[in-house]
Amino acid sequence: MRRTAVKGGRRGIRTARMVSIARERMEGLLKLAEETSERGRLDMSRRYVDLARRIGMRYNVRLPASSRYRFCPGCNTWYRFGTTASRRLRTSRVVIRCGICQLVTRLPYDHRTQLEAGTTTSARSSEPTLVEGLEDDGELADEEAE
Ligand SMILES: [Zn+2]
Repeated sequence: MRRTAVKGGRRGIRTARMVSIARERMEGLLKLAEETSERGRLDMSRRYVDLARRIGMRYNVRLPASSRYRFCPGCNTWYRFGTTASRRLRTSRVVIRCGICQLVTRLPYDHRTQLEAGTTTSARSSEPTLVEGLEDDGELADEEAE
């Protein structure tokens, strides 16, 4: 086992306790982001998203799957479909456009996930469940290719 003395503190070391605290804080911040966006406080909402993402980067903790695709990765605006964002369902992917910075995000969309999640066909067209386990920097694009 390689042991390297690191001067200047515990950089790079993360204990299970640190990770679980980071995860809790991220979930709390993302909840606040959602609540503030619902009240129209987009500025506050973006700040909470930004903080949650920073914590995730610092402790190498991924965003909870439930929140990962619910805000714009470009400007941190919480998606409010029909207001600050549009969402279209294609054959095998979901296309989300941020109404603030116009960033288009395309997410692969697996129908099998829907079946496993027990959702009905009618729910599929309005509330697609995003596939879990995607990389955070998956399908991002600026251009309109539809
Ligand atoms: Zn945006």
